[in-house]
Amino acid sequence: MTAPTEPREYMRIRPIHNGTVIDHLLPGTGLFILNLLDYTTLRVTPGLNYNSDRIPGGKKDIIYMEGGDLTADQMGVIAVISPSATINWIVDGKLSRKTHPVPVPDELGDILLCSNAKCTTNTEGGSRRFKVLQQPTDTDPFRVLCRYCEKEFYGPLVRFYTGQTLKDVRRGRFEFRR
Ligand SMILES: [Zn+2]
Repeated sequence: MTAPTEPREYMRIRPIHNGTVIDHLLPGTGLFILNLLDYTTLRVTPGLNYNSDRIPGGKKDIIYMEGGDLTADQMGVIAVISPSATINWIVDGKLSRKTHPVPVPDELGDILLCSNAKCTTNTEGGSRRFKVLQQPTDTDPFRVLCRYCEKEFYGPLVRFYTGQTLKDVRRGRFEFRR
C-alpha cells in the first residue's frame, strides 16, 4: 500500500489554446447554451455557478470551447438569453478579442420557433427565418417578425427550437437534448 499523497486537482480545466470562452452567462443558462454548441466533436467544458462580481446574485455560468467558432445565430441566442454575456476569442493561448454586449444579428433562423401555431413553419416544418425588429436590452425584451407569416412577437412569446420560452431557459427549466 502506498502512502497517502497530496490531494490532486481532479477537476482541472485545460487552458484554451485556440477557441472561445463564453463568460458571464446568467446562472442556469449554461447547459441550454451548451445545447447549441457542437460538442460532439469539440472539447467543451461547462462551468456552472461560478462566482461572479458582475451578475446580481453573485453567480455565473461559463463555457470553455476548444476549436470551432460561434455562428451568428448562436451568438444571437446567447445575447437574448444572457445579455450579460461576454465572448472571448483565444488565439495561440492569448486573448485575441472580446465582445460585450454580444450582437444579435438582423435575422435569426431555425434556433427560434414562430409563436403563430398556424404558421406553415409549425404545421409543415421547413426552415425558419425571423427578422429582429428590436435588440434586447435590460428593460425591453427583444422583438422579432416571422418571415413566413409576418407575425410579430416579443420576449415572453419567444420559444427556442427546444420548445422552451426565454423565461424557462433563464430559470434553468428545460430539457437537455440534441
Ligand atoms: Zn410564422
